[in-house]
Amino acid sequence: MNLTCRELCGLLMDFLDGTMAPELRTQFEQHLCACPPCRTYLDTYKQTIRMTRMLPREPLPTELVARLQVLLEKEMRCQKIPKPEDTKPSDEPPKLDPECRGNRQHPPHSGDSPPT
Ligand SMILES: [Zn+2]
Repeated sequence: MNLTCRELCGLLMDFLDGTMAPELRTQFEQHLCACPPCRTYLDTYKQTIRMTRMLPREPLPTELVARLQVLLEKEMRCQKIPKPEDTKPSDEPPKLDPECRGNRQHPPHSGDSPPT
């Protein structure tokens, strides 16, 4: 079975993640060898990820932002795109401050007599 360009496009994430099954990876690479447009696509995809990671560091020229947006929209139409949260290496759960939650149930001192 050979991969189609469309299938390959949907597998880019797995390929770059390294989570792809070895047999599939072989097919993927074979397709890439035989299909320059998909090679270019993979290249663009990698660049997009790299750029996205660099984004918060410094402001980008608006022209570049616009180009990136077009690129990202294209990617998203094609297949899932990693959300910024997913690409972060840390997997800390959201912090829940128990004291904060406790306070919400006990309104601050109002000077009134406590409930009986
Ligand atoms: Zn192709």
